[in-house]
Amino acid sequence: MQPQEKGNHVMKKNLLFYSAFALFLIAIFPFCHNLSRQVIALHRNKTVIVIDVGHGGSDPGKIGVNGIKEKDVNLAIALYLKDYLLAQDYTVYMTRETDCDLSDAAVSNKKRSDLNHRIQFTKEKNAACLISIHQNSYPDTIQHGAQTFYFQGRKSDEAFAKIMQDCLLNFDSTNTRQIKATDSYYILKNSSVPSILIECGFLSNPDETARLTDSNYQKELAYTIAVGTCRFLK
Ligand SMILES: [Zn+2]
Repeated sequence: MQPQEKGNHVMKKNLLFYSAFALFLIAIFPFCHNLSRQVIALHRNKTVIVIDVGHGGSDPGKIGVNGIKEKDVNLAIALYLKDYLLAQDYTVYMTRETDCDLSDAAVSNKKRSDLNHRIQFTKEKNAACLISIHQNSYPDTIQHGAQTFYFQGRKSDEAFAKIMQDCLLNFDSTNTRQIKATDSYYILKNSSVPSILIECGFLSNPDETARLTDSNYQKELAYTIAVGTCRFLK
């Protein structure tokens, strides 16, 4: 074989090899793609998120304009949040899914008993994080906007709060509130996992109450909280 012919022969062989390899990659791509999705899903399935639904049962939480009860708004938003997080393949538990409280029947301090059960529940589920859903209220009815609270000095909680508040500020351009450290929220203080408490808005503000009780707004807000949670856990 002449050098020129030999070169052509090698080129043809290489071309054949790379063509076959390309066909092979195209053939296995859907399988690999599905496999990687399954691996991600498997990983996320093992990641547990606990949504704490503030108040409930005999404890209505804040009473807003038109007699709106905080416990009902909390539950509505939390149920949408659960759906969004389940759709992202996380394992999700809620501290309550109906209008009830978690306190023991025969205790004098029902509020403390209720909160202790929520903290214990989160621990038992081996949660990667805890999101406590609440609504705010203030005598000055002009106050508005969602705000994320975390236990002061806890770096992981602060990081979670910051990511969440950034998402909430993106969601509502009129909101200028920043994350707030606290040492007084019992559930944040005693939780053993990265935890935040979101005051989703002010039930003392008529306009914000109208939004917070609108199912479309509740869904959008829940979606925003789901995005913040996914960003923190990724
Ligand atoms: Zn509350």
